Amino acid sequence: MKTKILKLLRKADGYVSGQQICEQLDVSRTAVWKVIRQLKEEGYQIEAVRNRGYRIVEMPDVLTGEELKSLMQTQWAGRNIVCYPETDSTNLRIRELGDAGAPHGTLAVADMQTAGRGRRGRTWESPPGSSIYMSILLRPDIIPGAAPMLTLVMACSVAEGISDCENVDVRIKWPNDVIAGGKKLVGILTEMSTQIDYINHVTIGVGINVNMTEFPENIRDTATSLRLETGHKVRRAPLIAAIMKRFEENYAVFLKTQDMSGLMEKYSGMLINLDRDVLVLGAEDSYKAHALGIDRQGELIVRREDGTEEKIYAGEVSVRGVYGYV
Ligand code: ATP
Repeated sequence: MKTKILKLLRKADGYVSGQQICEQLDVSRTAVWKVIRQLKEEGYQIEAVRNRGYRIVEMPDVLTGEELKSLMQTQWAGRNIVCYPETDSTNLRIRELGDAGAPHGTLAVADMQTAGRGRRGRTWESPPGSSIYMSILLRPDIIPGAAPMLTLVMACSVAEGISDCENVDVRIKWPNDVIAGGKKLVGILTEMSTQIDYINHVTIGVGINVNMTEFPENIRDTATSLRLETGHKVRRAPLIAAIMKRFEENYAVFLKTQDMSGLMEKYSGMLINLDRDVLVLGAEDSYKAHALGIDRQGELIVRREDGTEEKIYAGEVSVRGVYGYV
């Protein structure tokens, strides 16, 4: 009922009377009053005027299931939501939920992570109250080899969702980082549980620096947040809803061909590495090359200094700018 009342209040252009709420939701005046009191306790500033009703004056930046559900505009992505005030890693939570049979599209959201992870055993800084840490569960009927492309599908969706909500120029650093002002704003980590030729489930984790204003020493020069880029505080829940909406759309396009054909143009339009010199950092060696774009499989095509062209696969390497992070 809280979700429904929030939806009604948010949709209204002005006041909604207690009577209207009671009639539309078929509940008692006391029940409505109790929910309004709870919402106020959670930080929603709700004005109550006699003979007119209730009006939301200010939304707090809360990540509750009710807040998220009242904003979600999707069919399946983020429809089943589990929120954690604190957890080790939302990817671990989703993997567990996946093993336990949770439905396709289940979303885990945390206010802080104690063991946020990046690719290849790296850590993701996850302080409380200021960022988005979320992971989605997918049960795609595709071959395991196609699953890494889902990282690119998510990168595209996050970049678009952010642009839908905020006036900030976001780009993608191949394959999985979303960049603003030349620095890393978002990290994405895709993991999967498979049989030999069959996917049990895929987990895509997304970490977005939203209202952080300070970073640890080791990432100070390469990390940024939406607050730093826009100059104002950003509410997290509408951002999550916007990203889920874009992801649901882009996922449908991806599934048609099970490759990047339908999303290549969009992805390439946001690709910061396109037609730039890059450093390809592999586990063993690193080399300078010129990035020519991605192919249908989401691999990065580069031209080495000796003129030979090569496709690089997302799992193997990190890509940097020749003179800095991008
Ligand atoms: P990169 O080219 O940035 O190394 P990557 O894809 O190989 O990209 P990820 O696994 O996505 O790296 O992210 C982990 C790395 O991101 C960490 O090693 C650290 O340098 C950096 N990092 C960790 N936390 C944050 C954060 N909150 N914001 C920005 N960068 C972070």
